Amino acid sequence: MALEGTVLTTMTEEQPDVSSTLKIAIDGPAGAGKSTVAKLVAKRLGYLYLDTGAMYRAATVLALRKGLSMEEPEIIAEAVAKAKIDLVPSASSDGVPFLKVFLNDEDITSEIRGREVSLLVSPLSTIGSVRDSLVEQQRRLATNGGVVLDGRDIGTVVLPDAEVKIFLTASAAIRAKRRLKEFELQGEEVSFNSVLTEITERDHRDMTREIAPLRKATNAEEVNTDVMSIPEVVDAILLLCKKHSGSFSI
Ligand code: C5P
Repeated sequence: MALEGTVLTTMTEEQPDVSSTLKIAIDGPAGAGKSTVAKLVAKRLGYLYLDTGAMYRAATVLALRKGLSMEEPEIIAEAVAKAKIDLVPSASSDGVPFLKVFLNDEDITSEIRGREVSLLVSPLSTIGSVRDSLVEQQRRLATNGGVVLDGRDIGTVVLPDAEVKIFLTASAAIRAKRRLKEFELQGEEVSFNSVLTEITERDHRDMTREIAPLRKATNAEEVNTDVMSIPEVVDAILLLCKKHSGSFSI
């Protein structure tokens, strides 16, 4: 079954006074800082962290490797359902945890961040049957709470009952600048303007697709990361977690 082997362990540090069973949903457009913030929140709370975008990216690598076209959605969905995709927390040298991504036991952590995958992941994510198998897995992993999930549809579709819902945004130019830096670190040569165009097109596709479009859940807190540092965003989310744990009033 899809993702049967997914492994997630907790990342622990000093823990604020927060219930151990909250579900935290962090959604938003590409490059808003979701995964950076989600990892740090999970680390502070000793929670599981699940990067749902990495799952869609791994599914895209699979489709590319098999030479499947986006015109063959059911064949892609079948291949995804049979594949083993694992997200494994690992410690990096700077102490910031990150998830290693494996496809059928092969480490594809770098490959999923490549430009080709970034261009194709959004069309692949419009396939309903691919979403069904990944969403089922995400819900299963989140059943007992104590989780932080980031993505596009977490607060609206995957975990509509999440106690804490964040909609993380930033201006398109700032998000493109962040993505450009990531591509440069990977040695990919690409201009600012093409990254900006690609990111804007991806967001548009994610926001206008029929199934599980990117949108702010009605009860989500919107946080703009243009004007806040990462520690400030993390602290703001932890404050909301305390509020929802009933141990703190604001
Ligand atoms: O978060 P990241 O940018 O890695 O996500 C890559 C793509 O995966 C998104 O642009 C979106 O098309 C898709 N995605 C999704 N639903 C999610 C997470 C990601 O459709 N929950």
